[in-house]
Amino acid sequence: MTQQQTGGDVRLTGISKTYGSFAAVKPLDLTVPQGSFFALLGASGCGKTTTLRMIAGLEEATTGTVSLGGQDITGLPPYKRPVNTVFQSYALFPHLDISENVAFGLRRRGIRSVKKQVDEMLELVQLGDFAKRKPHQLSGGQQQRVAVARALINHPQVLLLDEPLGALDLKLRRQMQLELKRIQTEVGITFIHVTHDQEEAMTMADTVAVMNGGRVEQLGAPADLYENPRTTFVANFLGTSNLIEGEVVSADTDIVVAAGGGKLRLPTDRCTAPTVNGGKLLLGVRPEKISLAHADDADVIADGRNRVTGRIVDSSFIGVSTQYVVESPAGKALQVYEQNIERDARLTPGAEVVLHWNPAHTFGLDAAQDID
Ligand code: ATP
Repeated sequence: MTQQQTGGDVRLTGISKTYGSFAAVKPLDLTVPQGSFFALLGASGCGKTTTLRMIAGLEEATTGTVSLGGQDITGLPPYKRPVNTVFQSYALFPHLDISENVAFGLRRRGIRSVKKQVDEMLELVQLGDFAKRKPHQLSGGQQQRVAVARALINHPQVLLLDEPLGALDLKLRRQMQLELKRIQTEVGITFIHVTHDQEEAMTMADTVAVMNGGRVEQLGAPADLYENPRTTFVANFLGTSNLIEGEVVSADTDIVVAAGGGKLRLPTDRCTAPTVNGGKLLLGVRPEKISLAHADDADVIADGRNRVTGRIVDSSFIGVSTQYVVESPAGKALQVYEQNIERDARLTPGAEVVLHWNPAHTFGLDAAQDID
Protein backbone atom coordinates (compact mmCIF):
# COMPACT_ATOMS: atom_id res chain seq x y z
CA MET A 1 0.00 0.00 0.00
CA THR A 2 1.47 3.34 -1.04
CA GLN A 3 1.15 6.29 1.26
CA GLN A 4 -1.67 8.60 0.25
CA GLN A 5 -1.28 12.26 -0.56
CA THR A 6 -1.22 14.23 2.67
CA GLY A 7 -2.46 17.75 2.98
CA GLY A 8 -0.83 19.61 5.86
CA ASP A 9 -2.08 20.47 9.31
CA VAL A 10 -5.75 20.91 10.13
CA ARG A 11 -6.12 24.20 11.95
CA LEU A 12 -9.21 25.37 13.78
CA THR A 13 -9.12 29.07 14.67
CA GLY A 14 -11.74 30.52 17.01
CA ILE A 15 -14.19 27.90 15.83
CA SER A 16 -17.49 27.76 17.72
CA LYS A 17 -21.04 26.55 17.39
CA THR A 18 -24.10 27.89 19.13
CA TYR A 19 -27.63 26.57 18.84
CA GLY A 20 -29.90 29.45 19.85
CA SER A 21 -28.36 30.62 23.10
CA PHE A 22 -26.64 27.29 23.81
CA ALA A 23 -22.89 27.16 23.14
CA ALA A 24 -22.22 23.56 22.03
CA VAL A 25 -18.61 24.43 21.14
CA LYS A 26 -17.00 27.51 22.67
CA PRO A 27 -14.40 29.37 20.55
CA LEU A 28 -11.51 26.99 20.25
CA ASP A 29 -8.11 26.95 18.62
CA LEU A 30 -6.65 23.61 17.73
CA THR A 31 -3.95 22.35 15.42
CA VAL A 32 -3.95 18.74 14.30
CA PRO A 33 -0.53 17.94 12.84
CA GLN A 34 -0.44 16.34 9.41
CA GLY A 35 -0.19 12.57 9.60
CA SER A 36 -1.17 12.32 13.24
CA PHE A 37 -3.76 10.12 14.88
CA PHE A 38 -5.70 12.66 16.87
CA ALA A 39 -8.54 11.91 19.30
CA LEU A 40 -11.30 14.20 20.51
CA LEU A 41 -12.24 12.66 23.84
CA GLY A 42 -15.05 13.59 26.19
CA ALA A 43 -18.33 12.68 27.80
CA SER A 44 -21.61 12.72 25.91
CA GLY A 45 -22.67 16.24 24.96
CA CYS A 46 -19.24 17.91 25.35
CA GLY A 47 -19.16 19.08 21.72
CA LYS A 48 -16.76 16.60 20.14
CA THR A 49 -19.09 15.45 17.34
CA THR A 50 -20.05 19.04 16.56
CA THR A 51 -16.35 19.92 16.29
CA LEU A 52 -15.77 16.99 13.94
CA ARG A 53 -18.80 17.90 11.84
CA MET A 54 -17.51 21.46 11.45
CA ILE A 55 -14.26 20.03 10.07
CA ALA A 56 -16.27 17.84 7.69
CA GLY A 57 -18.45 20.75 6.63
CA LEU A 58 -21.57 18.93 7.81
CA GLU A 59 -22.18 21.66 10.38
CA GLU A 60 -21.71 25.35 9.72
CA ALA A 61 -19.45 27.08 12.25
CA THR A 62 -20.98 30.03 14.09
CA THR A 63 -17.57 31.72 14.28
CA GLY A 64 -14.03 30.90 13.25
CA THR A 65 -12.25 29.14 10.44
CA VAL A 66 -11.12 25.66 9.45
CA SER A 67 -8.01 25.40 7.32
CA LEU A 68 -6.12 22.50 5.83
CA GLY A 69 -2.50 22.92 4.88
CA GLY A 70 -2.92 26.69 5.18
CA GLN A 71 -5.92 26.81 2.87
CA ASP A 72 -9.17 28.14 4.34
CA ILE A 73 -11.88 25.54 3.72
CA THR A 74 -14.54 27.05 6.01
CA GLY A 75 -16.82 28.02 3.14
CA LEU A 76 -16.53 24.76 1.20
CA PRO A 77 -19.39 22.25 1.13
CA PRO A 78 -18.54 18.77 2.47
CA TYR A 79 -18.04 17.15 -0.92
CA LYS A 80 -15.47 19.76 -1.93
CA ARG A 81 -13.35 19.23 1.19
CA PRO A 82 -10.49 16.73 0.95
CA VAL A 83 -11.86 14.90 3.98
CA ASN A 84 -14.09 11.89 4.47
CA THR A 85 -16.05 10.63 7.45
CA VAL A 86 -16.66 7.17 8.90
CA PHE A 87 -19.71 7.04 11.14
CA GLN A 88 -20.75 4.59 13.83
CA SER A 89 -23.58 3.37 11.61
CA TYR A 90 -21.49 2.21 8.68
CA ALA A 91 -24.57 2.09 6.40
CA LEU A 92 -23.24 -0.18 3.69
CA PHE A 93 -25.49 -0.80 0.70
CA PRO A 94 -27.05 -4.21 1.50
CA HIS A 95 -27.69 -5.21 -2.12
CA LEU A 96 -24.11 -4.47 -3.26
CA ASP A 97 -21.23 -6.82 -2.55
CA ILE A 98 -18.20 -5.63 -0.62
CA SER A 99 -16.10 -4.66 -3.64
CA GLU A 100 -19.04 -2.69 -5.11
CA ASN A 101 -19.56 -0.97 -1.78
CA VAL A 102 -15.92 0.06 -1.69
CA ALA A 103 -15.97 1.12 -5.36
CA PHE A 104 -19.07 3.26 -4.88
CA GLY A 105 -17.31 6.60 -4.36
CA LEU A 106 -15.09 6.13 -7.40
CA ARG A 107 -17.97 5.08 -9.65
CA ARG A 108 -20.01 8.08 -8.55
CA ARG A 109 -17.16 10.27 -9.73
CA GLY A 110 -17.36 8.53 -13.12
CA ILE A 111 -14.19 6.48 -12.72
CA ARG A 112 -14.56 3.21 -14.60
CA SER A 113 -11.51 1.05 -13.97
CA VAL A 114 -11.68 0.65 -10.23
CA LYS A 115 -10.59 -2.95 -9.67
CA LYS A 116 -6.96 -2.27 -8.83
CA GLN A 117 -7.83 0.41 -6.30
CA VAL A 118 -10.63 -1.64 -4.75
CA ASP A 119 -8.36 -4.67 -4.40
CA GLU A 120 -5.70 -2.50 -2.83
CA MET A 121 -8.19 -1.08 -0.33
CA LEU A 122 -9.57 -4.50 0.57
CA GLU A 123 -6.01 -5.73 1.15
CA LEU A 124 -5.37 -2.71 3.35
CA VAL A 125 -8.30 -3.60 5.59
CA GLN A 126 -7.49 -7.32 5.30
CA LEU A 127 -10.71 -8.28 3.55
CA GLY A 128 -9.21 -9.44 0.26
CA ASP A 129 -11.07 -12.75 0.48
CA PHE A 130 -14.44 -11.15 1.14
CA ALA A 131 -14.87 -9.07 -2.02
CA LYS A 132 -17.89 -10.98 -3.30
CA ARG A 133 -19.77 -11.25 -0.03
CA LYS A 134 -22.76 -9.12 0.84
CA PRO A 135 -22.58 -6.92 3.97
CA HIS A 136 -24.93 -9.18 5.97
CA GLN A 137 -22.41 -12.00 5.53
CA LEU A 138 -19.77 -10.06 7.46
CA SER A 139 -19.29 -9.47 11.19
CA GLY A 140 -19.75 -5.98 12.64
CA GLY A 141 -15.99 -5.42 12.76
CA GLN A 142 -15.58 -6.53 9.16
CA GLN A 143 -18.40 -4.24 8.05
CA GLN A 144 -16.73 -1.35 9.82
CA ARG A 145 -13.50 -2.12 7.96
CA VAL A 146 -15.43 -1.98 4.68
CA ALA A 147 -16.70 1.45 5.72
CA VAL A 148 -13.09 2.53 6.34
CA ALA A 149 -12.00 1.19 2.93
CA ARG A 150 -14.92 2.97 1.28
CA ALA A 151 -13.92 6.25 2.92
CA LEU A 152 -10.22 5.90 2.08
CA ILE A 153 -10.63 5.00 -1.58
CA ASN A 154 -11.36 8.63 -2.42
CA HIS A 155 -7.89 9.53 -1.13
CA PRO A 156 -8.99 12.04 1.49
CA GLN A 157 -6.24 14.05 3.14
CA VAL A 158 -8.00 13.67 6.47
CA LEU A 159 -10.18 10.82 7.70
CA LEU A 160 -12.75 11.76 10.33
CA LEU A 161 -14.05 8.95 12.52
CA ASP A 162 -17.18 9.57 14.60
CA GLU A 163 -17.39 6.86 17.30
CA PRO A 164 -16.75 4.27 14.57
CA LEU A 165 -16.39 1.41 17.06
CA GLY A 166 -19.36 2.33 19.25
CA ALA A 167 -21.57 -0.50 18.00
CA LEU A 168 -19.00 -3.26 18.52
CA ASP A 169 -18.60 -5.46 21.57
CA LEU A 170 -15.61 -4.88 23.80
CA LYS A 171 -13.33 -7.58 22.39
CA LEU A 172 -13.97 -6.54 18.81
CA ARG A 173 -13.48 -2.90 19.74
CA ARG A 174 -10.03 -3.71 21.08
CA GLN A 175 -9.10 -5.56 17.88
CA MET A 176 -10.42 -2.75 15.71
CA GLN A 177 -8.53 -0.11 17.71
CA LEU A 178 -5.25 -1.81 16.81
CA GLU A 179 -6.45 -2.38 13.28
CA LEU A 180 -7.31 1.29 12.72
CA LYS A 181 -3.98 2.30 14.17
CA ARG A 182 -2.20 -0.02 11.74
CA ILE A 183 -4.22 1.34 8.81
CA GLN A 184 -3.45 4.92 9.79
CA THR A 185 0.27 4.18 9.99
CA GLU A 186 0.12 2.50 6.60
CA VAL A 187 -1.76 5.24 4.73
CA GLY A 188 -0.02 8.06 6.61
CA ILE A 189 -2.90 10.56 6.44
CA THR A 190 -4.36 12.44 9.41
CA PHE A 191 -7.04 10.59 11.37
CA ILE A 192 -9.31 12.57 13.70
CA HIS A 193 -11.23 10.20 15.92
CA VAL A 194 -14.14 11.07 18.21
CA THR A 195 -14.70 8.85 21.23
CA HIS A 196 -16.02 8.96 24.79
CA ASP A 197 -13.82 5.98 25.72
CA GLN A 198 -10.58 7.08 27.35
CA GLU A 199 -8.91 3.72 26.90
CA GLU A 200 -9.72 3.80 23.20
CA ALA A 201 -8.31 7.30 22.80
CA MET A 202 -5.17 6.38 24.70
CA THR A 203 -4.64 3.15 22.76
CA MET A 204 -4.93 4.75 19.36
CA ALA A 205 -4.01 8.40 19.38
CA ASP A 206 -0.67 10.23 19.36
CA THR A 207 -2.44 13.31 20.67
CA VAL A 208 -5.67 13.54 22.65
CA ALA A 209 -7.80 16.64 23.18
CA VAL A 210 -9.96 16.18 26.27
CA MET A 211 -13.18 18.16 25.83
CA ASN A 212 -15.54 19.29 28.55
CA GLY A 213 -18.49 21.65 28.24
CA GLY A 214 -17.64 22.76 24.70
CA ARG A 215 -13.98 23.51 25.46
CA VAL A 216 -10.72 21.64 25.11
CA GLU A 217 -9.70 21.23 28.70
CA GLN A 218 -6.29 19.69 28.03
CA LEU A 219 -4.33 18.56 25.01
CA GLY A 220 -1.38 16.22 24.96
CA ALA A 221 0.13 12.81 24.42
CA PRO A 222 -1.85 10.10 26.25
CA ALA A 223 0.89 9.42 28.81
CA ASP A 224 1.28 13.12 29.57
CA LEU A 225 -2.43 13.56 30.15
CA TYR A 226 -2.51 10.51 32.38
CA GLU A 227 0.55 11.43 34.41
CA ASN A 228 0.13 15.20 34.47
CA PRO A 229 -3.56 16.08 34.42
CA ARG A 230 -4.09 19.81 34.85
CA THR A 231 -7.69 19.68 36.09
CA THR A 232 -9.78 17.37 38.25
CA PHE A 233 -11.98 16.68 35.23
CA VAL A 234 -9.05 15.37 33.18
CA ALA A 235 -7.64 13.51 36.20
CA ASN A 236 -10.94 11.69 36.74
CA PHE A 237 -11.84 11.19 33.10
CA LEU A 238 -8.55 9.47 32.34
CA GLY A 239 -8.65 6.89 35.08
CA THR A 240 -8.76 6.81 38.85
CA SER A 241 -7.00 9.69 40.53
CA ASN A 242 -7.38 9.12 44.29
CA LEU A 243 -7.88 12.80 45.07
CA ILE A 244 -6.79 13.75 48.58
CA GLU A 245 -7.60 17.12 50.11
CA GLY A 246 -4.79 18.91 51.83
CA GLU A 247 -3.44 22.24 53.04
CA VAL A 248 -0.14 23.69 51.90
CA VAL A 249 2.47 23.76 54.68
CA SER A 250 5.41 24.99 52.62
CA ALA A 251 6.43 25.33 49.01
CA ASP A 252 10.17 25.40 48.39
CA THR A 253 12.00 22.75 46.38
CA ASP A 254 9.05 20.44 47.05
CA ILE A 255 5.52 21.32 48.08
CA VAL A 256 4.61 19.93 51.50
CA VAL A 257 0.93 19.40 52.20
CA ALA A 258 -0.83 18.42 55.42
CA ALA A 259 -3.31 15.72 54.48
CA GLY A 260 -4.85 12.62 56.01
CA GLY A 261 -3.26 13.28 59.39
CA GLY A 262 0.28 13.36 57.98
CA LYS A 263 2.46 15.25 55.54
CA LEU A 264 2.66 14.50 51.83
CA ARG A 265 5.11 15.89 49.30
CA LEU A 266 5.05 16.60 45.61
CA PRO A 267 7.45 18.25 43.18
CA THR A 268 6.60 21.89 42.43
CA ASP A 269 6.49 21.22 38.68
CA ARG A 270 3.71 18.66 39.16
CA CYS A 271 1.28 21.17 40.62
CA THR A 272 -1.05 23.33 38.51
CA ALA A 273 -2.58 25.10 41.50
CA PRO A 274 -1.34 28.27 43.18
CA THR A 275 0.50 27.36 46.36
CA VAL A 276 -0.02 29.73 49.25
CA ASN A 277 0.84 28.54 52.74
CA GLY A 278 -2.42 27.49 54.35
CA GLY A 279 -4.14 27.25 50.94
CA LYS A 280 -6.15 24.21 49.91
CA LEU A 281 -4.82 21.75 47.37
CA LEU A 282 -6.00 18.48 45.87
CA LEU A 283 -3.37 15.77 45.57
CA GLY A 284 -3.75 12.87 43.19
CA VAL A 285 -1.89 9.61 42.68
CA ARG A 286 -2.74 6.82 40.25
CA PRO A 287 -3.72 3.46 41.83
CA GLU A 288 -0.88 1.49 40.25
CA LYS A 289 1.72 3.88 41.72
CA ILE A 290 0.71 3.04 45.29
CA SER A 291 2.13 0.13 47.27
CA LEU A 292 0.61 -1.40 50.35
CA ALA A 293 2.35 -2.55 53.50
CA HIS A 294 0.73 -4.26 56.43
CA ALA A 295 0.63 -1.76 59.33
CA ASP A 296 2.92 -4.09 61.37
CA ASP A 297 5.56 -3.90 58.61
CA ALA A 298 5.42 -0.14 58.10
CA ASP A 299 8.96 0.34 59.44
CA VAL A 300 10.40 -1.26 56.29
CA ILE A 301 8.98 1.48 54.04
CA ALA A 302 11.85 3.53 52.65
CA ASP A 303 12.36 7.08 53.90
CA GLY A 304 11.10 9.88 51.73
CA ARG A 305 8.00 8.10 50.43
CA ASN A 306 4.55 9.57 50.85
CA ARG A 307 2.48 7.51 53.23
CA VAL A 308 -1.03 7.42 54.62
CA THR A 309 -2.68 4.90 56.89
CA GLY A 310 -5.82 2.98 56.01
CA ARG A 311 -7.93 -0.15 56.26
CA ILE A 312 -8.77 -2.49 53.39
CA VAL A 313 -12.52 -2.50 52.73
CA ASP A 314 -12.54 -4.49 49.51
CA SER A 315 -10.16 -6.64 47.54
CA SER A 316 -10.79 -8.13 44.11
CA PHE A 317 -8.56 -10.27 41.96
CA ILE A 318 -9.05 -9.34 38.30
CA GLY A 319 -6.34 -11.41 36.64
CA VAL A 320 -3.70 -8.82 35.77
CA SER A 321 -3.85 -7.20 39.17
CA THR A 322 -5.44 -7.21 42.57
CA GLN A 323 -7.53 -4.12 43.17
CA TYR A 324 -8.02 -2.85 46.68
CA VAL A 325 -10.35 -0.22 48.07
CA VAL A 326 -8.92 1.39 51.17
CA GLU A 327 -10.64 3.60 53.71
CA SER A 328 -8.25 6.18 55.05
CA PRO A 329 -8.18 9.52 56.86
CA ALA A 330 -6.94 10.82 53.49
CA GLY A 331 -9.97 9.58 51.55
CA LYS A 332 -12.97 7.29 51.89
CA ALA A 333 -12.27 4.97 48.98
CA LEU A 334 -8.68 5.14 47.81
CA GLN A 335 -7.90 2.60 45.12
CA VAL A 336 -4.71 0.60 44.86
CA TYR A 337 -3.77 -1.80 42.05
CA GLU A 338 -1.02 -4.26 42.79
CA GLN A 339 0.45 -6.71 40.32
CA ASN A 340 2.19 -10.03 40.78
CA ILE A 341 0.76 -10.69 44.22
CA GLU A 342 0.89 -14.33 45.26
CA ARG A 343 -2.56 -15.60 46.11
CA ASP A 344 -1.66 -16.21 49.75
CA ALA A 345 -0.09 -12.79 50.14
CA ARG A 346 -3.21 -10.88 49.17
CA LEU A 347 -4.54 -8.56 51.84
CA THR A 348 -8.09 -9.12 52.99
CA PRO A 349 -10.79 -6.69 54.09
CA GLY A 350 -10.23 -5.42 57.59
CA ALA A 351 -6.41 -5.42 57.31
CA GLU A 352 -4.75 -2.29 58.68
CA VAL A 353 -2.30 -0.98 56.10
CA VAL A 354 -0.02 1.85 55.09
CA LEU A 355 -0.27 3.15 51.53
CA HIS A 356 3.04 4.49 50.27
CA TRP A 357 4.33 5.93 47.02
CA ASN A 358 7.07 7.99 45.46
CA PRO A 359 6.29 11.73 45.89
CA ALA A 360 7.30 12.23 42.23
CA HIS A 361 4.14 10.37 41.25
CA THR A 362 1.89 12.84 43.05
CA PHE A 363 0.15 15.59 41.12
CA GLY A 364 -1.38 18.72 42.60
CA LEU A 365 -4.60 20.33 41.41
CA ASP A 366 -6.51 23.45 42.29
CA ALA A 367 -9.17 22.64 44.87
CA ALA A 368 -11.22 25.56 43.51
CA GLN A 369 -10.69 25.14 39.80
CA ASP A 370 -11.72 25.16 36.79
CA ILE A 371 -8.91 26.32 34.57
CA ASP A 372 -10.02 28.50 31.65
P1 ATP B 1 -22.16 12.38 22.04
O1 ATP B 1 -20.98 11.57 22.47
O2 ATP B 1 -23.38 12.10 22.86
O3 ATP B 1 -22.40 12.35 20.57
P2 ATP B 1 -20.84 14.94 21.74
O4 ATP B 1 -19.76 15.30 22.71
O5 ATP B 1 -20.42 14.47 20.43
O6 ATP B 1 -21.82 13.90 22.42
P3 ATP B 1 -22.32 16.94 20.36
O7 ATP B 1 -23.10 15.99 19.52
O8 ATP B 1 -21.22 17.69 19.72
O9 ATP B 1 -21.76 16.20 21.64
O10 ATP B 1 -23.35 17.96 21.01
C1 ATP B 1 -22.91 19.00 21.86
C2 ATP B 1 -24.10 19.68 22.47
O11 ATP B 1 -24.83 20.37 21.47
C3 ATP B 1 -25.08 18.70 23.13
O12 ATP B 1 -25.54 19.28 24.34
C4 ATP B 1 -26.21 18.60 22.14
O13 ATP B 1 -27.44 18.37 22.78
C5 ATP B 1 -26.18 19.96 21.47
N1 ATP B 1 -26.64 19.89 20.07
C6 ATP B 1 -26.10 19.15 19.09
N2 ATP B 1 -26.77 19.34 17.93
C7 ATP B 1 -27.77 20.21 18.20
C8 ATP B 1 -28.80 20.81 17.40
N3 ATP B 1 -28.93 20.54 16.12
N4 ATP B 1 -29.64 21.66 18.04
C9 ATP B 1 -29.50 21.96 19.34
N5 ATP B 1 -28.54 21.44 20.13
C10 ATP B 1 -27.69 20.58 19.57
